[in-house]
Amino acid sequence: MSEKTDVSAIFGENVFNDSVMRARLPKNTYKNFHAAIDGIRELTMEDADVIAHEMKEWAIEKGATHYTHWFQPLTGSTAEKHDAFISAPLPSGKVLQQFSGKELIESEPDASSFPSGGLRATFEARGYTAWDLTSPAFVRDSATGPILCIPTAFCSYTGEALDQKTPLLRSMEALDKQALRILRLFGNDHSRKVTPSVGAEQEYFLVDREKYLQRKDLVYTGRTLFGAMPPKGQELDDHYFGVIRERIGSFMKDLNEELWKLGVSAKTQHNEVAPAQHELAPIYAEVNIATDNNQLTMEVMKKVAYRHGLACLLHEKPFAGVNGSGKHNNWSLTTDDGINLLDPGKTPHENIQFLLILAGILKAVDVHADLLRESASCVGNDQRLGANEAPPAIISVFLGDQLEDVVRQLIDTGSATSSLPSGTLRTSTSALPNIRKDATDRNRTSPFAFTGNKFEFRMVGSSDSIAPPNVVLNTIVAESFCEIADELEKASDFDLACHDLIKKLLTEHQRIIFNGNGYTKEWEEEAKRRGLPNINCMAYAVDMLRSDKAIDLFGRFGVFSKTELLSRADIKYEAYSKQTAIEAKTMINMSGKQIIPAVMSYEGDVAASAAAVKELGEEPSVQTEILKETNSDLKAMQAARTALIQDLKKAEEITDDSVKAKYYHDTITVDMAALRAPADRLEMVVDKEYWPFPSYGDLLFEV
Ligand code: ADP
Ligand code: MG
Repeated sequence: MSEKTDVSAIFGENVFNDSVMRARLPKNTYKNFHAAIDGIRELTMEDADVIAHEMKEWAIEKGATHYTHWFQPLTGSTAEKHDAFISAPLPSGKVLQQFSGKELIESEPDASSFPSGGLRATFEARGYTAWDLTSPAFVRDSATGPILCIPTAFCSYTGEALDQKTPLLRSMEALDKQALRILRLFGNDHSRKVTPSVGAEQEYFLVDREKYLQRKDLVYTGRTLFGAMPPKGQELDDHYFGVIRERIGSFMKDLNEELWKLGVSAKTQHNEVAPAQHELAPIYAEVNIATDNNQLTMEVMKKVAYRHGLACLLHEKPFAGVNGSGKHNNWSLTTDDGINLLDPGKTPHENIQFLLILAGILKAVDVHADLLRESASCVGNDQRLGANEAPPAIISVFLGDQLEDVVRQLIDTGSATSSLPSGTLRTSTSALPNIRKDATDRNRTSPFAFTGNKFEFRMVGSSDSIAPPNVVLNTIVAESFCEIADELEKASDFDLACHDLIKKLLTEHQRIIFNGNGYTKEWEEEAKRRGLPNINCMAYAVDMLRSDKAIDLFGRFGVFSKTELLSRADIKYEAYSKQTAIEAKTMINMSGKQIIPAVMSYEGDVAASAAAVKELGEEPSVQTEILKETNSDLKAMQAARTALIQDLKKAEEITDDSVKAKYYHDTITVDMAALRAPADRLEMVVDKEYWPFPSYGDLLFEV
């Protein structure tokens, strides 16, 4: 038997959470801290000093020697700089361990090297991190020893956001304000706050670390840039929900325990569709906590994998030809008194508040489909969205049979009089209980699916932060709710106005609803007829951030100033170009230093065998045929490699970030594909013992 885990004892043991605070802080300080979270009063420096002291004492009990402001710059991952608690040595030669309120609340790391999109010249390097009171501090253990991590926001000297968290918090406030206006219209005067709840399902691959290290592409770029499919892929679907292998199981056990200690409620684990692919889903939480927790999850996955001799691949498409990884962003709206605004109840047609909210969300998604799509763009996700696999890059909403039927009634007749009931699934044997069936089946192909009491946005990349998609979701829905509230607050007959507005919104935005198979060519054509945007690469998707529509939207709701938004676009263009350049250079390197020499040495041996056979008076026909084939691909490789080198040089001359990103997409990625194709064919022919790195088969099936 494996070792027992006492989950309730370890859950949250490394988190400075509410119960720790309540137990350790003086009553007044604790009260003031909550007043600060609720925005009633600012935290005073005296209170901050008391909290900092207790936090430090608690962290030291956990073995911490250092603290860090933990933040999420625009690199996609997290950043930290560790400071020890020690003071300057006393005359006695001893040191004290100190941590002040000021050190807790703010810090000024030298931040000149984080992406700022021109917001901050390197000579004005000041960037500030500020404590996010809403996300609890935690002690994280690693090879450096336990460290007290304080979740913070990161902004420039002039106050512009340089991170993922600041706009997220702003968008939450915007949405809260507008959603409350709607609730008040329906006579709800008890709810004080509306918060987006998010559960982010995380997909990932695990491969053997020794083999991983032998592949420069995986090490430098996180994905394989060469690699032929083995005879077996995922066609049998035998990995999906399959029995978890021992080595993976012991990784998952460790991962769960680490996450639980950090207060991350890891809940569901299973094998995914592709071989070596897995998934972890936590229990949903407030979106800013969910965002922090997802970053932590990714960090801990990599660390625990390392300890198990594995490498965790979070890339969106580590292997061509099998499924890639995404992050399903499950999103709903919850009030502070526990009401889920996306819960339709048993008879949605009678739930006017729900129908109004639903209509508002449909409108938001339709009007800003381009921004939602952009929010899921990252370099790796380009290999999935609209490219080598589903989901398509077209945003549409799946409502399911029950809601679609209600919406249809509303559009057609102006009122809805019935809801399709949820049925009973007859199991046809008395040995099994009959099962209560949902009113709606699932649709795995929809990028934005209603799943009972939440929307599941399925486009997000597995390696990416979930902050940007939620910033967009929160803001576009805030705008929609604001327009609804503006109209209904001045209506003389609320019921009538509400009814008319629901019908109007549904009628105007019904084109965004699609319940069919989103992976088909027909849908692509149909979507085009409906006028829905289909942007299949990041270099073009980022343009959406620079539109007047986007600048106006984010400006009006105080989420991004124009400068901030444009700087984010620049950062993303630059990231696209840089990452693609690294991939291109890695391919040049691997083809020149590894693959081409390997093929030549194989050819040398085949040629020698041909000569030997000939000497014996036999025709070396097999050898000749093989040589013809390999040499033709070898030439193709060399030519493609030269073209790639030349085109990369041209890229360096382009100065405009947007133009450059598009050049990388339109030219460089095409060159890369041309270099890969002959190499992958060669891998199928050349004797395995010549091939310079582990194959797909080695990586995917021998974990
Ligand atoms: P599936 O893969 O079947 O869609 P999972 O159980 O893997 O489902 O993941 C569902 C995710 O949705 C979990 O993270 C869960 O906590 C989250 N979730 C459930 N209810 C809500 C809700 N009301 N709002 C936001 N997220 C939710
Ligand atoms: Mg799942």
